Amino acid sequence: MKIIALAGGVGGAKLADGLAKILLPEDLTIIVNTGDDFEHLGLKICPDLDTVCYTLAGLGNPQTGWGRADESFNALENVRQLGGPDWFGVGDRDLGTHLERTRRLREGQPLSQITRDFCKAWGIGPTVLPMSDDSIPTIVLSDEGELPFQEYFVHRRCEPRVSGFRFQGVETAAPAPGVVQAMREADLVVICPSNPWVSIDPILALPTLKSEIESLPMVAVSPIIGGQAVKGPVVKMYQELGIQPSALAVARHYQDFLSGFVFDQVDQDLESEIQQLNVLTLCADTLMTSPTQRKRLAQDVLKFGTLLMEK
Ligand code: GDP
Repeated sequence: MKIIALAGGVGGAKLADGLAKILLPEDLTIIVNTGDDFEHLGLKICPDLDTVCYTLAGLGNPQTGWGRADESFNALENVRQLGGPDWFGVGDRDLGTHLERTRRLREGQPLSQITRDFCKAWGIGPTVLPMSDDSIPTIVLSDEGELPFQEYFVHRRCEPRVSGFRFQGVETAAPAPGVVQAMREADLVVICPSNPWVSIDPILALPTLKSEIESLPMVAVSPIIGGQAVKGPVVKMYQELGIQPSALAVARHYQDFLSGFVFDQVDQDLESEIQQLNVLTLCADTLMTSPTQRKRLAQDVLKFGTLLMEK
């Protein structure tokens, strides 16, 4: 069974890691959001890609869910002392990734090739692909005007009220090499429990990918549990956009693509409403606070996915 997982950062990386633990490496391709990539301190930083790769490589920081374990921040401290921008937390080990990626990009290597090389160096088995080699920056439309994503997310700590999102250049962007081929070989697409607005929508907005994906069975896992986010601004975003945040809202969000939806057992009372969207449902324990839970949820999702493929 060949699986494609669509992922953002923290939530996406955890389920991707669970899937990687139970599938053969050649059966799993993880397509990662690059809408939150940006240039900072002269370096190209790809937060979601790095979170997914560090997690799969076992190098990630389990406390934060992003960045590296055993990290120090000496370089950033020095930037601060010199009066430079210190709002984005780049650790010393992490800095090496950004330096080497930026060097290669300046030599003309595409992001997908660089990511492939980094995965090999880190001993990552499954294929990890950026959604595109083209730059598609997410722009947050807010009560303070248009904000680049990291300006909103990290620098302004998600404080501005959002009114929408724009994925700059997506109309003409191409999926990264390997993305369309992986889609054509796939049996099932899994949308990880990532932020629908800013982690998954940028991937689904890629025109070529959208047309490929429509013919595949797709299962999504809710990042909202009991009306709350496990982490991040997803609930605040739904509220500011005038939508009651819930697993049901997430199912509605993906309605056009979905064959199946996995949501948490605490939301069991929403099941019949979700089923009315014409999707099959799986009510499960979707909170991943340990490697065992990541693996267990991945097993549940794949078992459910097998049922969907038979439909
Ligand atoms: P980001 O780009 O780092 O914000 O990462 P993602 O978009 O991949 O993940 C953020 C989303 O993951 C948030 O909406 C969280 O609620 C969700 N999330 C994080 N951990 C878990 C978990 O263990 N279970 C579920 N169901 N969702 C989670």
